[in-house]
Amino acid sequence: MREPAREPGHGQSPQAAERTAVEVAEARDIMLGSLRPLGTETVGLGHATGRVLAEAIVSERTIPPRDNSAMDGYAVRSDDTARVPATLRVVDTIPAGHATSRALGPNEAMRIFTGAPIPPGADAVVMQEHTEAGDGEVLVLKAARSGDHIRRAGSDVAPDAPIAATGTRLRPALIGMLAALGRTQVRVFRRPRVAIIATGDELVEPDRLIDDGRIGNSNSYGLRACIEEAGADPIYLGIAPDRPDALRETFRDALRFDAIVSTGGVSVGDHDFIKQVLAELGGTLRLWRVRMKPGAPLAFVMVGAVPVFGLPGNPVSTLVSFEQFVRPALLRMMGHNEIFRPVESAILAEDFEKAAGRMHFVRVLLRIREGQVYAFVSGDQSSGILLSMVQAQGLMILPEEATHIPAGTRVQVQMLDRSDMRRTPGF
Ligand code: AMP
Ligand code: MG
Repeated sequence: MREPAREPGHGQSPQAAERTAVEVAEARDIMLGSLRPLGTETVGLGHATGRVLAEAIVSERTIPPRDNSAMDGYAVRSDDTARVPATLRVVDTIPAGHATSRALGPNEAMRIFTGAPIPPGADAVVMQEHTEAGDGEVLVLKAARSGDHIRRAGSDVAPDAPIAATGTRLRPALIGMLAALGRTQVRVFRRPRVAIIATGDELVEPDRLIDDGRIGNSNSYGLRACIEEAGADPIYLGIAPDRPDALRETFRDALRFDAIVSTGGVSVGDHDFIKQVLAELGGTLRLWRVRMKPGAPLAFVMVGAVPVFGLPGNPVSTLVSFEQFVRPALLRMMGHNEIFRPVESAILAEDFEKAAGRMHFVRVLLRIREGQVYAFVSGDQSSGILLSMVQAQGLMILPEEATHIPAGTRVQVQMLDRSDMRRTPGF
């Protein structure tokens, strides 16, 4: 296997390894630079939620197609209501979905309902609430101005109006708009099928967990959720033991998918065979070791066109590495315009100490006080402590060179789930 020039190799001192590892931004560039959007497919609107547009949407229609009423009430000529109260003769009724061929004459009104087309001659609608119905006539109590309560043809969308660009995620409003434009199908990028492999002799599936010292495989389940949340299609291939032959078989099988995410076995331990096995399968190691915490060992290997993300095994390292690298990579493969999580500014609420040399992703709780967002460390930051990740709403990004970060410092926080922030009570 061709290894990058910086490849630290085994037996290196931790200090040397740190120096030869790449920084987070470079690691991201290496991975994203290797990936392109997959192909496209056409889906029905009923299956389009969360998918990514592989076509630019330009309106071919006028919406609404005709001037129509925004209210239940009476279509009038506004001049006829200049002096109120005004009595008008009701000459027709136009329910939604119907039209009248009759034009409105002087001192005439037509009963009209929301969505019904405005009859010729009328230039306003008087709300029902501002009228009193009589026998064959209506008493208008409030003067109408020309254009009142009329939704103009094309006021939503005119022909040739740009609606959405390629790479836009299909949210409900856009799906509704496509339907309004008369579309029943839409061209989207294919969702990557992503194989998940756990490695480790100490692991056991959650339903087999007994008190024998083995560890429940949490990574594969967390990853599955991450992949699903990103909009890709996870396929779980089980736990592979720490043996080169077994790992080779599992990875060989996984190569039929669009991407592979494995956990564990990428460190320098005697049982860490992932890199070796992928080399035997013809892979090119593009990257190993990133200057970050948690999650320094990380193998990125291309086997043909299939990216393999060999993530570290510690549960938080797995999730944080997924966030930094795999999620953007999958979104790139899905043709997304926006592949990164939003980063927001917050004020650090307590002192934080770190060693220089690695970028830290610190699990934080976010609290809002007087419109200002404050970040609190969510608990023990060891890479095996999943609970502090469960409770975190974001990852505070601390640059490599930072060491002492005093309370009150403005920091950048990568948002894991924006919706959680509003639920957080003030303090
Ligand atoms: P490794 O990177 O294989 O040395 O694993 C590092 C640590 O992460 C070990 O303590 C493992 O027990 C733990 N670990 C590895 N894989 C998993 C997994 N799938 N679920 C939970 N913990 C894991
Ligand atoms: Mg292991």
